Amino acid sequence: MALEAGGAGMVYLDYNATAPLRPEALEATLSALRSVGNAASVHPAGQDAASRVNLARRQLAHLINCSPGEIIFTSGATEANNLALRTAYASGGVLVTTAVEHPAVLEAARAITADRPNSLVVLPVDGDGILDLEPVIAACDEGRVALVSVMLANNETGVLTDLAPVIKVAREVGALVHTDATQHVGRLPLDLNELDVDLLSLSAHKFGGPQGIGALFVRRGTALPHRPLLVGGGQERGWRAGTLNVAGIAGLGAAAEVARRGLADEAARATKLRDALEAGLRSRLPESRVNGARVPRLPGVASVTFPGVPADAVLAAMPEVAASDGSACAAGAPSPSHVLLAMGRNREEADSTVRFSLGYATTKRDVERAVDATVRAVSEVRSAMVATAEV
Ligand code: PMP
Repeated sequence: MALEAGGAGMVYLDYNATAPLRPEALEATLSALRSVGNAASVHPAGQDAASRVNLARRQLAHLINCSPGEIIFTSGATEANNLALRTAYASGGVLVTTAVEHPAVLEAARAITADRPNSLVVLPVDGDGILDLEPVIAACDEGRVALVSVMLANNETGVLTDLAPVIKVAREVGALVHTDATQHVGRLPLDLNELDVDLLSLSAHKFGGPQGIGALFVRRGTALPHRPLLVGGGQERGWRAGTLNVAGIAGLGAAAEVARRGLADEAARATKLRDALEAGLRSRLPESRVNGARVPRLPGVASVTFPGVPADAVLAAMPEVAASDGSACAAGAPSPSHVLLAMGRNREEADSTVRFSLGYATTKRDVERAVDATVRAVSEVRSAMVATAEV
C-alpha cells in the first residue's frame, strides 16, 4: 500500500508502531469532529455525542466479546496499563510481570512500586520469548500477589503468550490478572468470555483507529479500590475524568468494527505475507535469523537479526521501507532492546535486529519490494563495514 505520510510510494511495514488509519475510522472521526456536543450534556447535541460514544463502546465490546459497561476509554494503552497496575497495587501486595513487557507496563510497574522495590517481581522468558510457568508459581507462592500482568503478544517479536495456565496459577493465590493486549486486539480473535482476565489494555491505533485513544477493560465484579489517574468530573464511572474524546472514540469504534469483520481473512493474509518476507530474506541472506520463529506469533510480525550488521544502518540505507530497529517507543534511545536481551541475545545481536510488521493494507508487492531493499541495504552496509575495516 502506498501511503501519503512520509513520502509517496513508501513501503510501510511498521504496523506494530502504528497502523494506517482505516478509511471507516477516518470517516467516523471526521463526522464526530464536524458535529458539536459534549457526551455528558443532556441536550440533543450532547446526546448525539453520547450516541457516537455508545456505538463505539458496543463495537469495541463486540470485537473482544465483553459487555460495553466493562470498557473505560483512556488515551491509549499506556494510560490503561498505568491505571490497571496502579489500581491493583493500591489493594496491597506484590506486582508480578515479565521481562519482555512494553515499557508502558515495565516502567509503570517500577515507578508504582518505587516505595517498596521488593513488591515487584519481573519474571524471565526463554530463548523463544516464552514465559516459563515455574517461576510464575514460585512468585505467586512467595507472598500475597496483587496482580499478575503478562502481555498477550509481544510488540517486538510478535511472540504470543498462552495465558490460560498463568491465569490458573494467579487464581489459585487470589491474584488479579491483567494483560496488555495492545498488539493482539484486532489482529487475532480475542474472546473475553473465554480468556478469564480481570483487566485488559488496548490502543486504537494498532488496529487502524486514531492515535491517542484506547481502553481498559475491567471485568464486572472485579473488586478493586478506585485509584483514577485523572480526577475531576467523574466521567467513565469515576475511573477516568475528563471530557470524552468523542472523535477518537468514534474512530476506535469504527476501526474495531472493520477489524472484527475482517479478522480471520486479515490474519491469514498477514501470516502468508510475513512467511513470504521471512522466506525471501532467509533465502537471499542465509545467515539471517528470525526471533521467535519456533513458537506461535502474531500474524504480521517478523523480527529478523542480520548478525554483525547494525539495524540502524540497514534502515538508513533503505529509506523507502518503513520498519523499526526496536520498539518505536524506545526509538532514539541508545539502549539495546530489553526484549531481545531477555531472550538471551547479546547486545550486538539485539542491535542487528530489524522488526518488520505487516497489516491489513500490506500487499504482496510491498513484501517483494521490502525483501529487495533489505537485501540490498544489508549488502551495502556490510561492504561499507569491510571497506572501513580495511582502511
Ligand atoms: N503496549 C504495547 C505492547 C505496545 O506495543 C504499545 C505501543 N507501542 C503500548 C503498550 C502503548 O500504546 P500507546 O502508545 O498507544 O499508549
